[in-house]
Amino acid sequence: APAIVWFRRDLRLADNPALMAAVETERPLVLLYIDETDLERPYGAAKKVWLHHSLNSLSKSIHDKGGKLLLREGPAEAVLDDVIKQSGAEAVFWNRRYEADGIERDSNIKASLQDRDIEVETFNGSLLTEPWEVETQAGGYYKVFTPYWRAASQVIGPRMAANPPLKAPNELIPFQKNLKEDELDLLPKSLDWDEKVMTDWSPGENGARDRLNSFLKGPIKEYTDARNIPSNETGTSRLSPHLAAGEISPKQIWQAARDGKHDADKFLSEIGWREFSYVLLYHNPKLAEKNYKADFDNFEWRTDKKSFEAWTKGQTGYPFVDAGMRELWQTGWMHNRVRMVVASFLIKHLLIDWRDGEAWFWDTLLEADPAANSASWQWVAGSGADAAPYFRIFNPFGQGEKFDEDGDYVRKFVPELKDIPNKYIQTPWKAPKEILKKAGVTLGETYPEPLVEHTHARERALSRYKESRGE
Ligand code: FAD
Repeated sequence: APAIVWFRRDLRLADNPALMAAVETERPLVLLYIDETDLERPYGAAKKVWLHHSLNSLSKSIHDKGGKLLLREGPAEAVLDDVIKQSGAEAVFWNRRYEADGIERDSNIKASLQDRDIEVETFNGSLLTEPWEVETQAGGYYKVFTPYWRAASQVIGPRMAANPPLKAPNELIPFQKNLKEDELDLLPKSLDWDEKVMTDWSPGENGARDRLNSFLKGPIKEYTDARNIPSNETGTSRLSPHLAAGEISPKQIWQAARDGKHDADKFLSEIGWREFSYVLLYHNPKLAEKNYKADFDNFEWRTDKKSFEAWTKGQTGYPFVDAGMRELWQTGWMHNRVRMVVASFLIKHLLIDWRDGEAWFWDTLLEADPAANSASWQWVAGSGADAAPYFRIFNPFGQGEKFDEDGDYVRKFVPELKDIPNKYIQTPWKAPKEILKKAGVTLGETYPEPLVEHTHARERALSRYKESRGE
């Protein structure tokens, strides 16, 4: 009888513990991906596009090893039952997920399969340590990143030495009978938006490996400084969509980075933030909905659809913010420095609920991740664990002047400002009329006036924060 490997966020053959365990049973394999139609939080549009391509790539790699990827659509439990019925499978293997809805559905499915004497084995395929594993001396989870990462690194180092990442299986023995398949409907219906978004990306395990290798070959040496410059396209690894789909594992990244001769600590500590966000999500299942710090519950958010829309479209009148939001729309990704600035702008300058921003990112980020996205939004809002304090309000043009000094990033994504000299590229409203005229810019027509004035917005935010805390 065959074994089923249920692929979820682990779309790779190498270092895939569930797949390897199934291969070791020497049973023929049903390699299954389910487009789950009953997820509590369905994937966003950008993520689905990524999945479409990533699954194509996985299917090819599986085919090259002699196997076949079976695509099905529906509620996971019903689909699994059907595949088991059709194939007579006696064992199911998968790698774990950590959001509450996933944990609950997986536990129910596991219990129901075991009741029917079907073997179920689950593994950690996406984190360096399980989110419940690294505890403080007092016995709880860490709420502050630095001590967390110090403690976690002490577990990870020896474990990596004893258990290096697994190689891809040499061969996949396919299950021979034909099983019912579905055509997955992951691409958007309208426009050719998805093709443009995908121009600079290569979803799939090979694309992920190439991206890691080219990053480790050179850019990692400059990472500590270069990671803050959004116009520097190799300043960060851009591995996030690959990691989110599980085309590469953090173990593979850790090992490759440590094997290099360079100092990888700073880069690996960012992988540590990813781990930490999973700790927070695991212990706070409602991380995307509920303030981690309850004293934020009284905060009075503004409802302002027009401003929210201007923000999503990159029409706030602050070039650095607008460049970021347009980068997100055009490429499905945004530089981390700019993410912090656009998020702070939405929350603190516009006083719009962080959850609205989180939801927009969820829909438009190729890498939208249940842990990192909500933890990061709460971090910026000040409502999260180990968060930026609420009174830290990013200056939306000062950040541009500091990290996009020559305006390259703004000019790339806000081309209507490209002829404005560096001095005013982040602050076109301060430019003398003749300079704007020469650059072909009419504020309010070809490019918006600032949506809110910075000093006023800053003071308004600070006093609203104080009020909400009863200060
Ligand atoms: P690199 O700098 O090369 O870092 C390597 C890897 O470390 C990343 O791929 C990512 O997996 C991890 N990482 C880096 N920074 C963080 C961080 N702060 N928190 C958690 N993991 C991190 N990251 C996501 O993976 N998914 C999200 O949905 C997401 N939403 C975010 C929303 C906001 C408002 C902010 C401020 C940050 C968000 N991040 C998210 C974190 C971070 O911005 C991205 O992981 C990073 O920009 C991805 O680019 P990179 O792969 O080049 O990163």
